[in-house]
Amino acid sequence: MKKLPLLYLAILRNSKSSRNKWSLSFYAILVFFVACCMSSCCWNLEKIPSHLQISSSHTPTHRVFNVVLIVLDGVRREEFFQGPRDSIKKNTKNKDALNSEERKSNPQKARRKLFPFLWGNLATKKGTIIVGDTNSCQISNPFGISLPGYSDIFAGRRQCNVKTNQFHSKPFCPTIPDLLIKEGMHPKQIAVFASWKHIENVASKYYRDSIVIHTGPKNPPLPRWKHSSFDKELQKNLRTYLNHTKDPPRYLSVIFNDTDEWAHLASYSNYIQAIQSQDSYIQEIYKLLESKKKYHQKTVYIITSDHGRGEGEKWTRHGKVKGAKKIWSVLSIPSLIGISSDQIKWIKDRLREDCNHHTIGKIAYWILSRKK
Ligand SMILES: [Zn+2]
Repeated sequence: MKKLPLLYLAILRNSKSSRNKWSLSFYAILVFFVACCMSSCCWNLEKIPSHLQISSSHTPTHRVFNVVLIVLDGVRREEFFQGPRDSIKKNTKNKDALNSEERKSNPQKARRKLFPFLWGNLATKKGTIIVGDTNSCQISNPFGISLPGYSDIFAGRRQCNVKTNQFHSKPFCPTIPDLLIKEGMHPKQIAVFASWKHIENVASKYYRDSIVIHTGPKNPPLPRWKHSSFDKELQKNLRTYLNHTKDPPRYLSVIFNDTDEWAHLASYSNYIQAIQSQDSYIQEIYKLLESKKKYHQKTVYIITSDHGRGEGEKWTRHGKVKGAKKIWSVLSIPSLIGISSDQIKWIKDRLREDCNHHTIGKIAYWILSRKK
């Protein structure tokens, strides 16, 4: 590599025309900038400060922590914070669960009806914070589409080469699962369950075949939407896995997809119904895990969306439309997890001050990585 500049100078010296020299210079500068961009995105992840490090000496009774990261594809913060939107609902056939007057006078009630578990249960627990009600929670990429968002969450940083939903290669930087395995975690303690098949391309750079990955569908017949199974199928497989695996995962990622599909089909009633189903799936996952000794009071739950959607009439779209960059996030850290209050405060402050997909990915890393 060190000989490349010398080689370039030799070629430049031997170029006969000044036009060739200009072309070579242009390409050299281009290559230099691309190389700089590619290397800069793989800087080491920021570590938790040493005085707040989560080490085994701090946790004599709770030696192992878990992270459950759940993503609801394309669920807007409008619905998350205020419940179903009347201006969109009136165009649908389904009767509203809540009438217009009720929603206007009590948005808290409206969102509790839509997310009975997240707002009615998890949000009320000590140790849960919810961010994104203002413009403060945003995606970490300029595209506003799904796969770049997921790759940012899985890596805790921007993956330079994931710019579309058609990515079929390996991520450029190691992901959080890669780092955790490198630091000693067994690959089988990392599980990724996703309705959308393409998630398997961004979950890991090095250990895709070693970690537990369930995405669907791999073979025809395809369900209603291409490259994705229905959320209920995913939930069924996840339920079976969690009930029967002998080595439960420490890092479990679950990615639901029905909401985005119904939104693209402009069916607001089905979009709302899919949100309610996803909320019930989260409740089931939570109850199932918290009934197990390995997880009870030792598990951090993070719930978010991969992108927002357009505002008003543009609610069916995301990408370059206004509103698509805005997301919301829930972070629930049980008080008895064995992490000191200073450590919990530090992690929550990170999400409050810098709420984006990179921070969400890093939180998973901070909780799961251990000081040796
Ligand atoms: Zn998406």
